[in-house]
Amino acid sequence: MKKETRFETEVIHSGYDSREYKGSLAPPIFQTSTYVFENARQGERRFCGEEEGYIYTRLGNPTVKMLEDRVAVMEKAEAALAFSSGMAAVSATLIALTKTGDHILCSQGVYGCTFGLLEMMEAKFNITHQFLEMSSREQVEQAIRPETACIYIETPINPTMQLIDLEMVASVAREKRIPVVVDNTFCSPYLQKPLELGCDIVIHSATKYLCGHGDVIAGLVAGKSEWIKEVSMTTQKDIGGVLSPFDAWLLLRGIKTLPVRLDRHCQSAEIIAEKLCAHPFVDEVYYPGLKTHQGYEIMKKQMKKGGGLISFTIKGTKEEAQDFLDRLNLIKIAVSLGDAETLIQHPATMTHAVVPKEAREEMGISDQLIRLSVGLEAWEDIWSDLEEALNGLK
Ligand SMILES: *Cc1c(COP(=O)(O)O)cnc(C)c1O
Repeated sequence: MKKETRFETEVIHSGYDSREYKGSLAPPIFQTSTYVFENARQGERRFCGEEEGYIYTRLGNPTVKMLEDRVAVMEKAEAALAFSSGMAAVSATLIALTKTGDHILCSQGVYGCTFGLLEMMEAKFNITHQFLEMSSREQVEQAIRPETACIYIETPINPTMQLIDLEMVASVAREKRIPVVVDNTFCSPYLQKPLELGCDIVIHSATKYLCGHGDVIAGLVAGKSEWIKEVSMTTQKDIGGVLSPFDAWLLLRGIKTLPVRLDRHCQSAEIIAEKLCAHPFVDEVYYPGLKTHQGYEIMKKQMKKGGGLISFTIKGTKEEAQDFLDRLNLIKIAVSLGDAETLIQHPATMTHAVVPKEAREEMGISDQLIRLSVGLEAWEDIWSDLEEALNGLK
C-alpha cells in the first residue's frame, strides 16, 4: 500500500514516477501523434480493447495521462480526462449526459460561453435548461422534473460570487438519481472538492488557477472511472477536443505550485476586499471571505478559504466603470483569472456580453459590476493602483 500523502505533496508527485522514465526528474513530453504496433495482431488487440496500450494521441498520450492522473488524485476522483479548453470539457460533459427532450437544472449564473452552449443545445436539440438560485432543499426538489438529466452548478457563481451549498444539492440529487456536475474553476481542488461533498462530476477550465501562468488553454473533467471511460470513448474521441502533450506538460509544471499560489491569492484578496468595502466610491463588494457575504457560512463549510476573486460595484455609470478600468496601470484589463498578474474585467460588456441584458440583470450583472482576479504581486501595489483609479471617479 502506498503511504497517504497530503495535497501539497500530491500536486508535485502524483501521476509521475521518474523510475519509469530513465530517472528524468521532469516528466518527458511525448510529442507524437501515433504509436507503432509491433505487429498487425497487436494492432487488432489494441483496437478491440483486449490489450492495454496507446494507439493514437486523440485516444491517449502518456504526458496527458500523467496530468489526468494527477488531477484525479487532487479532486479525489477515480479518474480524470484532459481537454483542449474548459469549454471542450463542458460541452463533452453536457453532450454525454443529455439527449433530445432532456432538461438541465443550472445555477443562477454560469460562465458566458456555458450559457451560449445551453442556448444552442435548446435551439438545436430541444435540450432545455432552467436557472435556479438553489438556496433551499425544497426549491431544488420542486424544480427537478422527470426529464431532468443533470444538475449543473458553478459555485462561487461567475461573476457575482454567490455560493451554493453543494452537500445540500447533492443529497437531493442522490435521492432522485440525478448526477450533479460542478464547474470548480473558481476554487480549484485546493479550496473545494465537490466529489467529497457528494457531487458526481467536476469540470475545470484548467486555463485558470490550475495552470496559473496565463499561457495555456485547457479543460479537465473528473469523476467515476466508468463514466470517464465512456466520455473518453464517445464525446471526447468523436468530437475530438483533446489536449496537446506540450500543454499537458505546462499544466503539470504549473500545478506543482497551486497551493503556494492560492495561499497568496487568498491572503491578498482578503485584504483588498476589506479595503474596497471601506472605499467611498465602491457600492457593494462580493467576496465569499467577507463575514457580510451572503454565502459566508457555506464558504466556511465547503471552501478552505475565500478564493482569489472579488467582484464589486462602483458608484457610477457604465462609462465611468470603463474609465475606471482605463485609469489602472499595474492591473491589466483582461478576461481570464487565476494568473500571477492581477486581471480586471467588466462582465456586462465582456465575459457576459453574450447574455441578453434581461437575463444578465437576473443574474445580478449590472453595468457597474467589476470582476477582479487578485494576482501574486504585493497587495500594497495592487491596492495602490485600485485606490488611485477609484479616487478618479469624482
Ligand atoms: C474560463 C472558464 C470556462 C471556460 O474555459 P476555457 O478554458 O476558456 O474554455 C468555464 N467555466 C468557468 C467558470 C471559467 O472561468
